[in-house]
Amino acid sequence: GRAKEQGLTVGTYDSGQDASSTDRLALLAELQDAFAADDQIMLHLQPAVDLVTAEPTGCEALVRWRHPRRGQLSPAEFLPAVERSELLIPFTRRVLDLALAAAADWTAHGIDVPVSVNVSARSLTDPTFPAQVTEALRRHRTPASRLVLEITESVAVSEQDIVDEVLARLRASGVQMSLDDFGTGFSSLSSVTRMPVDEIKIDRSFVEEMIDSPAAGAVVRGAVELGARLGVRVVAEGIETVEQRAALIALGCPSAQGYHFCKPMPADKIVQALTQLRGSSSARVTPLRADG
Ligand code: C2E
Ligand code: MG
Ligand code: MG
Ligand code: MG
Repeated sequence: GRAKEQGLTVGTYDSGQDASSTDRLALLAELQDAFAADDQIMLHLQPAVDLVTAEPTGCEALVRWRHPRRGQLSPAEFLPAVERSELLIPFTRRVLDLALAAAADWTAHGIDVPVSVNVSARSLTDPTFPAQVTEALRRHRTPASRLVLEITESVAVSEQDIVDEVLARLRASGVQMSLDDFGTGFSSLSSVTRMPVDEIKIDRSFVEEMIDSPAAGAVVRGAVELGARLGVRVVAEGIETVEQRAALIALGCPSAQGYHFCKPMPADKIVQALTQLRGSSSARVTPLRADG
């Protein structure tokens, strides 16, 4: 496959340490072939919307692997292996290319929202990562401000200097930064002080529990207030019910993402979904259905 032509090898540094390492190596070998096939690595896209109006405010790329024998694999089933291998760079390149192509498509249809791409923590320790991002933007002639990079947690303290450097260069290039799964990592609160972000995404677990748990509701309220004070966007993740929507609106949360509004959809369906959301009135949003 293409990956082999580029001289990549599969990372093996902890092979033998766990029972599944053989599986993982097989998976990585198959992934090299998947890069050569056109349609195995694909994105599903999920809009983020204004909680009151349902107007799209952004759209997140969520990777899927249509494996020839195992069927559709979710990120949890293959990302950990990818992240520990040398395939992370070509994988990230493919995801950026697919995401920027999808964004060009909805832009051409008059929908001007940015695309969000999830970034592996390990990419933030790669000094070449900012250049990979700017090169992808150049390939697609996309302004940096149309790309949001979603980052999660902490990386090893020993690598903090390089992470700070990578984040500073990404910021300087004009891409937007989002703190994903906010509230779950030990680093959540310190993250917002050590680097400027444009957006905070409140983890789904708090949205799920907020109706029954005053503590979870307090976390949501705290995140909303923090966002307002910092002047950053706040997005609640994983909203599934009309009750959650009402509760989030009552707490002043501006926007959300979740099955209640729209499930993640294949790229060829997303323009229609975004258009439908834009045209829907606040009171009568019917959830859009796609993959489960
Ligand atoms: P995330 O970035 O926090 O993405 C949100 C996850 O919640 C997605 O799972 C999405 O499909 C799911 N979700 C959205 N709305 C709802 C809802 O209303 N209810 C429930 N129960 N779930 C909802 P998915 O697609 O399996 O992705 C899981 C994680 O994998 C993502 O979490 C992200 O951290 C990572 N990921 C996904 N795509 C990529 C990628 O291209 N690169 C990297 N490095 N990581 C990725
Ligand atoms: Mg995300
Ligand atoms: Mg998240
Ligand atoms: Mg999450």
